Amino acid sequence: MGRTPHLSSRLQGFGTTIFAEMSALAAKTNAVNLGQGFPDSDGPIEVLNAAVDAIQAGVNQYPPGPGIADLRVAIAEHQKRFWKLDYDPESEVLVTAGATEAIAASMLSLCETGDEVIVFDPTYDSYGAGISLAGAIMKGVVLRPPPSGTTFEFDPDELRRAFSPKTRLLLLNSPHNPTGKVFTEAELTLIAELCCQHDVIAVTDEVYEHIVFERSHLPLAAFPGMSDRTVTISSGGKTFSCTGWKIGWAVGPAPLITAVRTAKQFLTFVNGAPFQPAIATGLRLGDDFYQSLTSSMKAKRDLLSDLLEAAGFEVFQPEGTYFTTADIRPLGFDNGVDFCLRLPEMAGVVAVPSEVFYQDSRNGATLVRFCFAKSDQTLLEAGRRLADGLNPASG
Ligand code: PMP
Ligand code: GLN
Repeated sequence: MGRTPHLSSRLQGFGTTIFAEMSALAAKTNAVNLGQGFPDSDGPIEVLNAAVDAIQAGVNQYPPGPGIADLRVAIAEHQKRFWKLDYDPESEVLVTAGATEAIAASMLSLCETGDEVIVFDPTYDSYGAGISLAGAIMKGVVLRPPPSGTTFEFDPDELRRAFSPKTRLLLLNSPHNPTGKVFTEAELTLIAELCCQHDVIAVTDEVYEHIVFERSHLPLAAFPGMSDRTVTISSGGKTFSCTGWKIGWAVGPAPLITAVRTAKQFLTFVNGAPFQPAIATGLRLGDDFYQSLTSSMKAKRDLLSDLLEAAGFEVFQPEGTYFTTADIRPLGFDNGVDFCLRLPEMAGVVAVPSEVFYQDSRNGATLVRFCFAKSDQTLLEAGRRLADGLNPASG
């Protein structure tokens, strides 16, 4: 790839995000958009009304730098209620412009130039850019689909070898986008042991913490030795179906949160004043809300998996998130990028090629990602189009 004029060396190679590219393709071709991850319906009415009420009540100026006090309290209550983790809302909770800002601010504030950051590869696309902006180096440990089928796994020795004297951070995403993997207790125990042994700080991205199907999400901060060395990041976008509001947060020990806040102040300073009380309302919703989010997403996962299998894909059933990864080889294709570029024309559907999330694109060349946070009608329409478009003889 040639150099992009004017762009600093830190950002060379980072073009337009795949999500923007694929959503533009969906709009241009009038395809069913199962590419970019966002739900096609609004979240709970109490949360929406709380934002409207806040706007009308004049909550429209800069909120305090760390976030409004009531949201910080609600975030601390949420961490206690679901994960039995204690945080002081004054010094250990920071509200950010989505999880994206919390991730970037963590990299910028915690890394020196040349430090290494361990990630599980593939990664959500902002990780590479955030690490690069901080002048740090991303070291990937590859997640591979096991031959038998269902979940993605890493080689524990590859993880052990990834730690070096230059390792500053480990950036963990569980539930994991794009694979849908939910890291197990045994895997998290090993990760925690290695972080403690090498005196490495963990930054965890848990934006899908409430979209987990077969077993519970486990926060790395709850593992022995980790509470003092973990910055836990999440956001309201996925849980409350308001990805456009961009209210996220970081929680952790005061010295780490103070560092992250220092960077955050000069990225956005603050954001989303009227959405902050609304997310506090959401975090305090009853268990019935959280249970119905999980059960409705699980039903959608099962529906999309069945539809993709019927259309001829090999499906890797996700354990969490709202994404399903599928292999295109049974359909006679071997290049996910070509496949996704042609899919609107072949079948009127948009998906995302998983290889863009990998450091070495060969590890994901035949995988594509579909988002199932859509109405059943939309998923059924996509399934019908895929079955007809990819198997014309049977149609
Ligand atoms: N991390 C992961 C794994 C994601 O999938 C996303 C997309 N929602 C984000 C972070 C960004 O979250 P936010 O929109 O809150 O910035
Ligand atoms: N998190 C969403 C995804 O993985 C998209 C977020 C974005 O467009 N940056 O599809």
